[in-house]
Amino acid sequence: LSRGFRQARNRLAGLTELTEQNIDSALREVRLSLLEADVEMGVVKAFLSRVKEKALGRTLEVKVKHAGETHEVSASDHFIKICHDELEAMMSHEGEEIAWAQSGPTGIMVVGLQGSGKTTSCAKLARLLQEKEGKKPLLVAADMQRPAAVEQLKVLGDQLKVPVFNIPGASPVEICAAAREQARKQGRDVIIYDTAGRLAIDEPLMKELSDIKAKTKPENIFLVVDAMIGQDAVKTARSFHERLELSGVVITKLDGDARGGAALSIKEVTGAPVLFSGVGETTDKFEPFRADGMASRILGMGDVVGLMQDFEQVVDQKKAEKDAARMLQGEFTLDDFLEQVRMIQKMGSLKDLVDKLPIGNMFPGGLPQDVNLDDRELVRIQAIIQSMTAFEKNDPYALIREPKRVERISKGSGSKPEAVTELVQKFLFMRQMMSGLGQNMGMLGKIPGMK
Ligand code: GDP
Ligand code: MG
Repeated sequence: LSRGFRQARNRLAGLTELTEQNIDSALREVRLSLLEADVEMGVVKAFLSRVKEKALGRTLEVKVKHAGETHEVSASDHFIKICHDELEAMMSHEGEEIAWAQSGPTGIMVVGLQGSGKTTSCAKLARLLQEKEGKKPLLVAADMQRPAAVEQLKVLGDQLKVPVFNIPGASPVEICAAAREQARKQGRDVIIYDTAGRLAIDEPLMKELSDIKAKTKPENIFLVVDAMIGQDAVKTARSFHERLELSGVVITKLDGDARGGAALSIKEVTGAPVLFSGVGETTDKFEPFRADGMASRILGMGDVVGLMQDFEQVVDQKKAEKDAARMLQGEFTLDDFLEQVRMIQKMGSLKDLVDKLPIGNMFPGGLPQDVNLDDRELVRIQAIIQSMTAFEKNDPYALIREPKRVERISKGSGSKPEAVTELVQKFLFMRQMMSGLGQNMGMLGKIPGMK
């Protein structure tokens, strides 16, 4: 989890209701998280208001089955799910990535700023279409800005055994205009135009691209955007879209650290869907864009699988806190004890709370660092406590006064009588310590997580 999001989650942890108030504070943290991911300001605002509406609209009623028990999903899990789903919905698109020509070869014009990854993406696209769709692409080298650009595409084309078309000394528009005839001659059914870029958008570039578009009438115009350019991505996309009417976007360099907020911003601002992701320098590092993966990345949550696991490992933290408060006031029963042991086993997130309780005294060597109790130990304790009558649970001293009771429990639970006595003594000692602890702490406010 990114910092902002973790805070948002903590803020909601334990709350079982999504109210206007607790959503607002959590939303402030999510806002930070999105800005950290380079999502554009206006898009962040739009997203937050949508999530807020959704969160207020459908609260609470989610129940999750875990280990045979039904739990209520905590507010924080619910909130994360809403954020994730909304992000996914905002970025997803339906239908095919490529619009195919009714007749003749399909045109794909690739545009973008210098260094964004156009030439590389053209080659990757050619490879994908060749290998996955059985197409016969023609690559067109129409970047006459830099002398090395044509050579770069030729090298890549050679690797893929895809022909690369260029007319030395001709203008980009002339080259593109001649490409269709070349494709017909060579029997190619997709034409990919690799165009020139600039460090920043300028009028000569836009004019050149508009002219190429007018001459070739490509079915697809893809904008290539470097995920690292962050907030600037929106400005860039808007300018290209205004002049060329983009049909889709390719986000490159997602193998780097960039959180990819650009994917969300561009789709929101231009309406052009993100269709492909570049995830490395070589031509095989290219894949159809996945909105769910990107939603997690933007939230900084790792992957969706992690999210779903969170969902299943629901912690009723509010109840745990109430129990802790009661126990520290000396009202600690054997049933509480059993439940605590079970919970510790089930939920790592109670560790902090448990660390503050002397429950570790029950186990030789104390509680292991990651609170994974030995299953057999748990089963043994559980069997002993469940063999007790309600009267005995209510008055554990009865077990010390009347050895017959211990004998019966020993038989019923399959443990030695000494084990039963030991458990009872440790329990009594612990209860005493807990109530002492509670008094020493004075206020329960000192327990982390308790307000
Ligand atoms: P162009 O100027 O837009 O044609 O950009 P290029 O295709 O020449 O790419 C610029 C640089 O970015 C090159 O060094 C590429 O190897 C690199 N590049 C392109 N796409 C990716 C990508 O998805 N991941 C990584 N790591 N590098 C990329
Ligand atoms: Mg290039």
